[in-house]
Amino acid sequence: MSKFWSPAIRELTPYVPGEQPRERLIKLNTNENPYPPAPAVEAALRDFPADHLRRYPEPTSLALREALAEELGVETEQVFVGNGSDEVLALAFQAFFRQERPLEMPAISYSFYPVYCRLYGVDRRTHPLDDQWRVDLDAFGHDTGGVIFANPNAPTGHGHGREAIAGLLERVTESVVLVDEAYVDFGGESSVPLVERFPNLLVTGTFSKSRSLAGLRLGYAVGSRELIEGLERVKDSFNSYPVDSLASALGIASLSDRGHFDACREAVITTRERTRIRLEALGFKVLPSQANFVLVTHPELDAAQLFVGLRERGVLVRHFNTDVLRDHLRISIGTDDEMESLIEALETQFR
Ligand SMILES: *Cc1c(COP(=O)(O)O)cnc(C)c1O
Repeated sequence: MSKFWSPAIRELTPYVPGEQPRERLIKLNTNENPYPPAPAVEAALRDFPADHLRRYPEPTSLALREALAEELGVETEQVFVGNGSDEVLALAFQAFFRQERPLEMPAISYSFYPVYCRLYGVDRRTHPLDDQWRVDLDAFGHDTGGVIFANPNAPTGHGHGREAIAGLLERVTESVVLVDEAYVDFGGESSVPLVERFPNLLVTGTFSKSRSLAGLRLGYAVGSRELIEGLERVKDSFNSYPVDSLASALGIASLSDRGHFDACREAVITTRERTRIRLEALGFKVLPSQANFVLVTHPELDAAQLFVGLRERGVLVRHFNTDVLRDHLRISIGTDDEMESLIEALETQFR
């Protein structure tokens, strides 16, 4: 606490990202991709002329937005890009959710949403997950200033299909529905094709997970032209150049290699299902996942103790110290070898 801080800043509870350890650990705590970015990214990095950095980037990131629009089957004017999807989300909170009525969200979802609510003075109303830990879409839409959730959801991994999302959008027409698709490429169904039909739908995505580019910081949003224009208004009142020229070039290179993208996400999905079977054999309850992580709990073992035991054996997973999640661990999907090490480390806990 410092007397120099603005009063509102004293009240914040900042988001705490998963640890980036200095020592060599098997890192299964922040849902990074275990595979390298596409070879085209490496080539573009090598070929990038340092002299280009003399100039400011093109302020609307036009070339990257064109490449994304082609990839996603929408118009360039329906795409917005930012410095990671966290930034895109922050701009969306300012652009759409500072309303009289509260923003609705699941009680369990990405823990950054409540942080932005406090930062931007947005009231929120949370709804419990249903009895199978799925986002309860029917709960949303009564006297609402907006809706936000991750689909597939984090840290549960469950995703709703496009028709279910369309059902929600049939009912909620007067405020923005933001569907955060950070994990959609690992088996979810994207709602992007719905943006034509529903002008209040904003879908966000990221290069951090399925494209192995968490360190590059690239995220995007897809929606109607009026929503994208709203985001641009906030961006141009804050930082005209959130995406640097190098990030744009590497993002475009990543999009150019569909084969690598598909091979990596399929490998993650295959390893996830293998891991699920191994964990269940050890007595874990594993929530079905369409993401690159699994949420697990064990009837006899304490999750906090397991977290510590695993760390001592060189495996880092995520434990959330909240009432509902205290008994669970979220485990990111690494390579087959990494998951084998996880299983071996877990087996020592039973001896
Ligand atoms: C990882 C994650 C993000 C943030 O992605 P960045 O593009 O790296 O900022 C957004 N939403 C959810 C649900 C995530 O898990």
